[in-house]
Amino acid sequence: MITFFSLAAFIFGSAIGSFLNVLTLRLPEEESLGGRSHCPSCKHILSSSDLVPLFSFLWLRGKCRYCKTKISARYFMVELATALLFAWVYAALLPESIFGIVILIRYWFVAAVFVSVFVIDLEHFVILDKMVLLSSIVVASINIILSIIAGSSVFSINGLFISGLVGAVAGFLPFYALWFVSKGKWLGFGDVKFALLLGLILGWPQIYVGYFFAIMIGGFVSSILLIFTKKSLKSRLPFGTFLTVGAFLAMLYGPLFLKWYLAFLGF
Ligand SMILES: [Zn+2]
Repeated sequence: MITFFSLAAFIFGSAIGSFLNVLTLRLPEEESLGGRSHCPSCKHILSSSDLVPLFSFLWLRGKCRYCKTKISARYFMVELATALLFAWVYAALLPESIFGIVILIRYWFVAAVFVSVFVIDLEHFVILDKMVLLSSIVVASINIILSIIAGSSVFSINGLFISGLVGAVAGFLPFYALWFVSKGKWLGFGDVKFALLLGLILGWPQIYVGYFFAIMIGGFVSSILLIFTKKSLKSRLPFGTFLTVGAFLAMLYGPLFLKWYLAFLGF
């Protein structure tokens, strides 16, 4: 059954990934999300058989059916990444109650937001305000719903909602300070606003586990780039992409890591 549901999560994720392809392509260009998908090269409207997640790309061997222009691997990668993340989240949670299912939906939503932020920050070096604002409202609402299902008060100090608010402030302050001190050179204000969303998602004190992971991953990837490519220390790196990876890992494994780390320190 676990295999069956993981596969279902994978297929569902690939369909969401297909939607995220459109979203991440059109949102930064202020295009409407409603129009039919077309080939960026020959403008031919794509039929539903051209739009089956993962399969169409493989079946057409990465080329447009009509003009044979190569299709960017980005489409396939976004679908595959979302599919894998959705299956991973399912397998990590294995929900068995209403509470568990709402947690699953929350994590899937966050995974979809992270894929979008990752792609847009990589391609445009920007984190979109409307995406951060809308996602913050959704996550805060789900936090409230979870508190209600758990039967605790929404404003309980140990509840998810308050933990999210404390996490948002704790996440925001150090980034704002860095942004302020460096006059925006070390990180963009988009990252500062994104920190609020990350805090709502991870809560207190997991937000700092997310930062820790992001800095480790960012440092590792930057060193690799410095050694093997012509990127210099002055090259801009999309910090948001590292934050999404670090925060995703902290969301799934933050509590476990924190427990291990505190035990390691002797607490
Ligand atoms: Zn074409």
